Amino acid sequence: MNVRRPRGTNDILPGASEHWQFVEQKIRDICHNFGYQEIRTPIFEHTELFERGIGETTDIVEKEMYTFQDRGDRSITLRPEGTAPVVRAFLENKLYAQPLPAKLYYFGPMFRYEKPQAGRYRQFYQFGVEAIGSADPALDVEMIVLPIEFYKSCGLSGFQVHINSIGCPTCRPTYRDTLRKMFSEKLDQFCSNCQGRIERNPLRVLDCKSPKCQELIDDIPLVLDSLCPECSEHFAQVRQYLDLLEIDYIINPKLVRGFDYYTRTVFEITVASLGAQNAIGGGGRYDGLVEECGGNPAPAVGFAVGLDRLMLALENQESQIFTPRKPDGFVAHFGGVTKPVAIKVVNDLRKQGLWVEMDYLDRSLKAQMKSANRFNCNWVLIIGEDELADNKVKLRWLASGEEEEVELDNIQVRLLNEREGQ
Ligand code: AMP
Repeated sequence: MNVRRPRGTNDILPGASEHWQFVEQKIRDICHNFGYQEIRTPIFEHTELFERGIGETTDIVEKEMYTFQDRGDRSITLRPEGTAPVVRAFLENKLYAQPLPAKLYYFGPMFRYEKPQAGRYRQFYQFGVEAIGSADPALDVEMIVLPIEFYKSCGLSGFQVHINSIGCPTCRPTYRDTLRKMFSEKLDQFCSNCQGRIERNPLRVLDCKSPKCQELIDDIPLVLDSLCPECSEHFAQVRQYLDLLEIDYIINPKLVRGFDYYTRTVFEITVASLGAQNAIGGGGRYDGLVEECGGNPAPAVGFAVGLDRLMLALENQESQIFTPRKPDGFVAHFGGVTKPVAIKVVNDLRKQGLWVEMDYLDRSLKAQMKSANRFNCNWVLIIGEDELADNKVKLRWLASGEEEEVELDNIQVRLLNEREGQ
């Protein structure tokens, strides 16, 4: 049997997993600072949640969901994104009865049946934040500042923030109709994907990467010029607060996002070094989603960061984001009566919080010393039969090569003192 992992998935191996843990810790630290609490929702949900929430004419719902009938004949979907599940959990668990806005964050795998390439996978990881229950533009800005601070704390630099406003159900339909009319006149010049989109969801055409489609939308009227006074005012305040905080941003009037639930502010953060898949995060306001999911209307705003791409960007930057941990020490033994003593000593030291390694392959002392050196341990305890007869063991400091004899009963105190002193 030679089974390989499914296309578009990754194994996160030792070495890399430490980088992930580092980043995960940054997520917790930043969210704590900004007052967001973690929420963990199921990896799968009823398909209807995403169809209704994300929108039936989006790429995700049309062709990217991992949907299957379970044994009870229910339609189940592996979550392709985190916002709709958070909103569902907000309603189902009556989080609206607590002080608003609800400030929540999540971290975990998402699943989309996309064409795999560098930075685009079928299982990928997102960290996301949602604030539900306030229309304050200050929260839109918080949603832009939080990921920026997160990226910086991970050691990333050279990213760009793009923002736009795509209006609301009052002003967007007029803009959508204008685009539909304009695009329909040149329908056959658009790529086949866009031809399908023009009738159902013409704003999605703005997101098409085909150079020909880009050319065709070059001189379209801009959504920012068609906003209603309320949306205009909201966007002006977002910009004002961003300026106040001295955040660099680019207004990109053609920025739209892949979900139908967005209203007003949308944003995306990109890193040029990533090439085609250069978006490392994005988000926006979704004032209608809570109602769409069956709740009382509640304005909300959020973002999601793609962690796989963040990792790639950090790798490209060759940033030394953290110092890997190394074992404190190694306990060497010679088998026979020395082995149970080694097992006990290792266990006692680990209980004290030390990282201690030992040999499990009955190797020679020379080979064990080699392992200890490779691990770059501070010390090696050598449990020899002769010393053991006197209730002693040998302690060798690898950096200096110095050796001392330590009473078996004093090992813990000796090594813990040494660590305190470091
Ligand atoms: P979205 O949920 O589509 O707004 O995406 C938010 C972020 O998740 C993007 O900016 C990407 O960094 C990341 N992302 C989205 N789709 C994928 C994917 N298929 N593979 C890897 N990362 C992704």
